[in-house]
Amino acid sequence: MAAEKKVVFDSEAAGSMMNDLRGTFASGRTRSYEWRVSQLKSMEKMLNDCEKDIVDALTQDLSKPELESTLYEIGMLKNSLRVTIKELKRWMKPEKAKTPVTIFPSSGEIVSEPFGVVLIISAWNYPILLSLDPLIGAIAAGNSMVLKPSEIAPASSSLLAKIVPQYLDASSIRVVEGAVGETSALLEQKWDKIFYTGSGRIGRIVMAAAAKHLTPVVLELGGKCPVVVDSGIDVQVTARRIISGKWGCNNGQACISPDYILTTKEFAPNLLDNLKEEIERFYGKKPLESKDLSRIVNSNHFDRMAKLLDDVKVSGKIVYGGERDKEKLRIAPTILLDVPEDSLIMNEEIFGPLLPIITVNKIEDSFDVINLGTKPLAAYLFTQNKKLKEEFVMSVSAGGLVVNDTTIHLAVHTLPFGGVGESGTGSYHGKFSFDAFSHKKAVVYRGFVGDAPIRYPPYTRGKLAL
Ligand code: NAD
Repeated sequence: MAAEKKVVFDSEAAGSMMNDLRGTFASGRTRSYEWRVSQLKSMEKMLNDCEKDIVDALTQDLSKPELESTLYEIGMLKNSLRVTIKELKRWMKPEKAKTPVTIFPSSGEIVSEPFGVVLIISAWNYPILLSLDPLIGAIAAGNSMVLKPSEIAPASSSLLAKIVPQYLDASSIRVVEGAVGETSALLEQKWDKIFYTGSGRIGRIVMAAAAKHLTPVVLELGGKCPVVVDSGIDVQVTARRIISGKWGCNNGQACISPDYILTTKEFAPNLLDNLKEEIERFYGKKPLESKDLSRIVNSNHFDRMAKLLDDVKVSGKIVYGGERDKEKLRIAPTILLDVPEDSLIMNEEIFGPLLPIITVNKIEDSFDVINLGTKPLAAYLFTQNKKLKEEFVMSVSAGGLVVNDTTIHLAVHTLPFGGVGESGTGSYHGKFSFDAFSHKKAVVYRGFVGDAPIRYPPYTRGKLAL
């Protein structure tokens, strides 16, 4: 049996780090526009200087294809930094607010102030993006912070622990590596905000720890993201866009990857043929050898995936793929048709390269199927039917929706990114990141005129007539 891993970062270390960070925050150092921009620019430099190291770390952790690392981790971060640096001055300005005539003359404004010292806990699947993107928001809003990357992507975690202090201000930005013990030590502290990305199971632990101190949280969680495919669409483009969101996003190990497809019984064969054809075009006849697919992150997740496939309830339902190589932690793009509702695969987030197709009698029935489950992080619809689009937008509750594509909403910085219900609470990206890490302070300004007698005793009826 493997020896239990020693916790090197305990409660005492967490407390002492917290004291240092509180001291820096109290000094006002992180509040100035200049400090915030200088840190954001240093992060830009870090990404440019360390691009190769980042790609290498992602190769070690996930065999992530270089292009995916460059576009979806580094590229997304550079974009996030570009927008934040450009807009920060405007975001930091107090926002004017109208005041009622009953307190005339007066004026109001909303002042964005940093929460203080914040904790960011990130996940393993996009270990660089999901660590640094929230950090950008926390810096932009003027906080001190601790980042705890995921131990399940150890190369990325140790790279962040090495390069962040080289480029960013260590008096207010720290990285703590570790697993459950270290994270638990951090969670004992009284934070001013906690931003967590990961599963709902651990999200509950984080929220319970935060509740002890009445600390507000953002929880970026997951769920089963459905794709509804109507007939009368461009089926080849549809198949490609589903493949790109599924296997082209870390081999399905992405929170907004399609989890299952809903389509009609009549249309399923056409869709299936196109999916098979395009998968083969992209990944060849031997997908286990493809350099364009990430591997499964570790043997625990490989075994979890194998269990979903070996469930007796889904035997005979695999209509494409199914090949696996435990030693290399590789599973081929796999499609299953009409698995039973009570099978394991339909009752947990897949988070990997398996894609069930569920058929319905009428396409409209798909929305009922989705709404019977917990609220997903994203939901997708492919259709040319205007009424169906409207019904989808009005009746399906999810963190985000996309019509006629998958996953692309993540890259739209003018839209909030986050879940609802079981898929999370709060949101970020663009200005929403700045807001996620800012307290919106209400301020009213008055002079000494306009002192209405009605507010002062004695409360006589006569005053009401005034
Ligand atoms: P994970 O195992 O890396 O865990 C996430 C974080 O929680 C890690 O930093 C880990 O150290 C910490 N953690 C683990 N056990 C803990 C404990 N007992 N106490 C305190 N902290 C603990 O990642 P995961 O949970 O496997 O991530 C996959 C899930 O995350 C999926 O559900 C996925 O949909 C979701 N996800 C969501 C987003 C999003 O943006 N909404 C992004 C990526 C992943």
